[in-house]
Amino acid sequence: MRKIAVLDQNTIDKIAAGEVVERPSSVVKELVENAIDAGATAVTVEITDGGKKLIRITDNGAGIEADQIPLAFLRHATSKIEKVEDLEQIASLGFRGEALSSIAAVSQVELITKTPSAVSGSRYIIEGGVEHSLEELGAPEGTTFLVRNLFYNTPARSKFLKSDMTEANYIHTLMEQLALSHPEISFKYIQNRQVKLHSAGNYSVKDVIYSVYGRDITKALLDAEFENDFMKITGFVGKPEIARGNRSFENYYINGRYVKNNIITKAIENAYKGFLMQHKFPFVSLQMQMEGNDLDVNVHPAKREVRFAREQEVYEAVYDTVRRALTGKEMIPKVSVGR
Ligand code: ADP
Ligand code: MG
Repeated sequence: MRKIAVLDQNTIDKIAAGEVVERPSSVVKELVENAIDAGATAVTVEITDGGKKLIRITDNGAGIEADQIPLAFLRHATSKIEKVEDLEQIASLGFRGEALSSIAAVSQVELITKTPSAVSGSRYIIEGGVEHSLEELGAPEGTTFLVRNLFYNTPARSKFLKSDMTEANYIHTLMEQLALSHPEISFKYIQNRQVKLHSAGNYSVKDVIYSVYGRDITKALLDAEFENDFMKITGFVGKPEIARGNRSFENYYINGRYVKNNIITKAIENAYKGFLMQHKFPFVSLQMQMEGNDLDVNVHPAKREVRFAREQEVYEAVYDTVRRALTGKEMIPKVSVGR
């Protein structure tokens, strides 16, 4: 046995990076979420070779001030929360301060950014967690990240990547979900120089659904709506005839975050009981809003899982929303009697 010793920072960073950055689509997810948090109204994502060679993400958001750039790449460095109480009320998609340090640990990153008030922009280069340069340069307002040669220094991870086509498909699906969860932002996704998705950013979820799923699906949608003092839900559920053989059509977003949750999935599927044949899964696209303190998103570094303080109420709200949409019933306002 070796003697016990604390690992060096580089090794720690690479281990931690594995939790956040599993594949190219994880990089896209983290960087686009940062763009959204920075208030961008337009985000362009461009990839080649399934994102293994190059991922370029450009936003027109707030930018990063030159003297803050090296800080942003430190582990647990964030502008989004300050203290433990802030975890109770998370309004942003990010808050863990792990993405940039993780991505930079396992790739070659070039960042170009400019804030509205700065006279000029900055370019920063960091590779395998090692800073190369920070220089001034003319740049438009906003931020561009170039991530090259993902996992070039972690061959173990690199080996487990799938084909370029499969990795590109993961990114494409992710971009669709990001566009659906943020209809107020115009997303452009370019794969090997081909535009695969371009959403208008005009606040219309239906327009995004149209550009993602096409006309036949859009024509088969029913409006879904729900509101009580705890939760607000808007969106669409599909008529039974557009159901499919897997769950890829069951999508929902909580406070602008694409998540997976068993309680919500069960509520949706139970609400469709009697409307669908066995082994068929419905189309739904639901946007949910609830107070941050009813929701725990700090379950896993990738933030795809959530926990609810009031599970039963979430279940009932979702079930009711879907069921009423399917049966064409109006919402019966519940008089709240206080608790
Ligand atoms: P987190 O998102 O959890 O704060 P990140 O490592 O993803 O952590 O980012 C670190 C910080 O860098 C953010 O808190 C933010 O201040 C800044 N940042 C990252 N990306 C952008 C961007 N596209 N525009 C403006 N600021 C950014
Ligand atoms: Mg982030």
